[in-house]
Amino acid sequence: MLDKLLVRPGHKANLSDRDPTDKLGLSGKPQGRKQLDQLLPKLDDLQARLAGEASRGVLLVLQAMDAGGKDGTIRSVFTGVNPQGVRITSFKAPGGREAQQDYLWRVHQVCPARGEIAIFNRSHYEDVLVVRVHGLVPEERWRPRYQHIREFERVLHDEGTTIIKVMLHISAEEQRVRMQERIDDPAKGWKFRAGDLDDRKRWDDFQAAYEEALTETSTDWAPWYVVPGDRNWVRDVAVAKILVHHLTQLDPQYPKIDPAIVGTKVV
Ligand code: ADP
Repeated sequence: MLDKLLVRPGHKANLSDRDPTDKLGLSGKPQGRKQLDQLLPKLDDLQARLAGEASRGVLLVLQAMDAGGKDGTIRSVFTGVNPQGVRITSFKAPGGREAQQDYLWRVHQVCPARGEIAIFNRSHYEDVLVVRVHGLVPEERWRPRYQHIREFERVLHDEGTTIIKVMLHISAEEQRVRMQERIDDPAKGWKFRAGDLDDRKRWDDFQAAYEEALTETSTDWAPWYVVPGDRNWVRDVAVAKILVHHLTQLDPQYPKIDPAIVGTKVV
C-alpha cells in the first residue's frame, strides 16, 4: 500500500492521476476500523520506545486543502499515543516576529526534540503553496525555496530526525460537501473562514502548486506520501500505516538498565 502512496523522489507527484476515493484494497469501514485498532497500540508502543531512547525525533508534516481532514487525522491516529511525547504545531499566516524573519525561522524552533514526535498541521510548505497562489511574494522569492526546503530537511535528517510528509488528497466535490457541513453545523462553523471560499475558487492553482511542491521536495530523506482523503477511515489507516512503517524501521530501543540496579529489591 505504501509504495503506491509514495511520491518517488525524482518523479512527478501526478496528483491528478491519484484517486481521492481510493479504498486501498480495504473492503469497507469495519475492516478499516479493525486495521486501525491493530495499528494504534503499535504506534503507542513505538512512541514510548522513541521517548525512552531519547536520541532521535520524528516529524510528521500534514498538508491538505481546506477541510482536507488534518485535524481529524491527528485526532484519530494519535488518540492512543501518550500526549506527553507529542508536540503539535498549527501554522497560521505568520504574524509579529514571525513575519519579520525568514520563513523557516518559526519552523525550526518547533521541530522535534530527541525522543519526541512533532506534528505540523500545515507547515513551511505554505510558503510555496498559499504564498505562491496568493502572490504574497514574487516567484524569484518562492521558487528557490524548494531547494532551501530540501536542504533544511536534510539537516534535520542528518541530525537524527525522521521526516514523514503526508498530503491528504481530497476531491473538489468532497471539499464542497465538508465546507457546506461546516457552514450548516454550529459545532463546526468556527472552522470556517470566509477566505476559504476564495481559496476554493483557486482550486486548480492550489493543485498545481501542490503538484510542483511535492515533485520538487520528495526526497529519500524526507519523502512525501499522497493519501486518499475522501474517506476518513481509509485516510486514518493509511497515515497510521505510514507512521508505523517508519517508526518500525527506526526501531527505537529502551536504554539498558544500569547493571548496578538490576535485580535490586525496593524495600
Ligand atoms: P486550518 O485551515 O489549518 O484549520 P485556519 O483556518 O486558521 O486553520 O487557516 C490557517 C491559514 O493560515 C490558512 O489559510 C493558511 O493558508 C494560512 N497560512 C499558513 N501558513 C502561512 C504562510 N506561511 N503564509 C501565509 N499564510 C499562511
